[in-house]
Amino acid sequence: MNVYVLLKQTFDTEERIVLRDGRISEEGVKFVINPYDEYAVEEAIRLKEQHGGHVTAVSAGPERAAEALRTALAMGADEAVLLSDDRIGEDEYAVSKTIAAFLVRQSFDLLLAGNFSIDNGSGQVAVRVAQLLNLPHVSSVTKLNVDENRAAALRDAEGDSETIEVALPALFTAQQGLNEPRYPSLPGIMKAKKKPFHTLGLDDLGLSESDIAPRTARESLALPPERKAGRILKGSPAEQAAELVHLLRTEARAI
Ligand SMILES: Cc1cc2nc3c(=O)[nH]c(=O)nc-3n(C[C@H](O)[C@H](O)[C@H](O)COP(=O)(O)OP(=O)(O)OC[C@H]3O[C@@H](n4cnc5c(N)ncnc54)[C@H](O)[C@@H]3O)c2cc1C
Repeated sequence: MNVYVLLKQTFDTEERIVLRDGRISEEGVKFVINPYDEYAVEEAIRLKEQHGGHVTAVSAGPERAAEALRTALAMGADEAVLLSDDRIGEDEYAVSKTIAAFLVRQSFDLLLAGNFSIDNGSGQVAVRVAQLLNLPHVSSVTKLNVDENRAAALRDAEGDSETIEVALPALFTAQQGLNEPRYPSLPGIMKAKKKPFHTLGLDDLGLSESDIAPRTARESLALPPERKAGRILKGSPAEQAAELVHLLRTEARAI
């Protein structure tokens, strides 16, 4: 089973977001594998353990994204590919076209990705890649059974769940609950240092800057307005309830 995993390096979820000159400041920030992509890496490794095969982790991003790929290698992926070039735009169109240009030359049974990234969260890149490669895709998968050249995926459908069967090759995006990602072990970290790691630019992919010119541009980025401090009501429960109703009517105008 030949599996490729698409992963993005994102901010650690514990990080405080600071904006500087209209961009998120990266100063002193800790980066991690996007949590949904971690489920995808884990699932790929489990499939390899079950069926045999090869797992390749792929990321498009700046040089620092190599660290996330090394973590995937330490978890058990066999090979990593970083698509990195200052000429690659940062919108979903440019990124998905770059990834698809790499994958179109590879042979695989399965592509695994995350449901969405926890920072930009557009939920577009993986499904765009499937579209560009003319592959079936199933999003938000919480269970995946692979058998020869077919797969059955249980997916989240807004509170309900549905099972979808598709012919392989196909792309699946991982939802929370798919598995419990393993921590890289010390031997895993040591082994990762010797695993194949490739860095490719636009020329290696046969792409020109105009092939992947971004289709969208971010106009502005702002933090949400600061929340006002809460207010603690005093008095008996009946007095507090009366005060609450009064405030909801006069201040919040919610009733
Ligand atoms: C040279 C370069 C520099 C970049 N610099 C930054 C940066 O500074 N900050 C930043 O946030 N982003 C950066 N990116 C990444 C790019 O902005 C995002 O990948 C893109 O905007 C995706 O949008 P999203 O985060 O909403 O992903 P979504 O569409 O929400 O992601 C869905 C799924 O698609 C896959 N996916 C998404 N992005 C990638 C990726 N880049 N590589 C592999 N798989 C992916 C993952 O499996 C993910 O779970 C850079 C990309 C390149 C090529």
